[in-house]
Amino acid sequence: MEHPCLRCGACCAAFRVAFHWSEAEASLGGSVPPEFTEKLDPHRLAMRGTNVAQPHCVALRGTVGEATHCSIYMQRPSVCREVIPSWEFGTINPQCDRARLKYGLPVLTPHDWIERSDAGA
Ligand code: SF4
Ligand code: SF4
Repeated sequence: MEHPCLRCGACCAAFRVAFHWSEAEASLGGSVPPEFTEKLDPHRLAMRGTNVAQPHCVALRGTVGEATHCSIYMQRPSVCREVIPSWEFGTINPQCDRARLKYGLPVLTPHDWIERSDAGA
C-alpha cells in the first residue's frame, strides 16, 4: 500500500501556508524557492496560492484525492514538514482530518496504517 498522502494532498489545498522569511533566504540556509512564495507581513512569507479563500499551493501537482505530490518536496517549508497524517504515529491530526473532509475524503484511521505495516511498507 502506498503512503496515503500520495493519494490525497488535501492539506496543501486547504490552509494558508505561512513561515518565516528566512526559510526562503539561501544565504541563511533557507531552502524554499523564493519564486514560490509571496510576502505576507514583515516577518512571514506564504506559499503562493495559499493566502486566498480557496487555497491551493502552487507547488502541489496532481489532483487532490487522486494522485498528488509536492514539486518542491525536499525544499518545502518547515510547516509542511511538521504536518503528520492522522494515526501515522498513533494520534489524530485535526488539520489532516479537516483537510480531507473538505474534499470529501474519509479521515484516516489506525486501520490505514496497519494495512501499510502488513504490506511491509
Ligand atoms: S491531509 Fe493528511 S493524508 Fe492528506 S496529504 Fe495532508 S497529511 Fe497527508
Ligand atoms: S510546499 Fe509542498 S508540501 Fe507545502 S503546501 Fe505546498 S505542495 Fe504542500
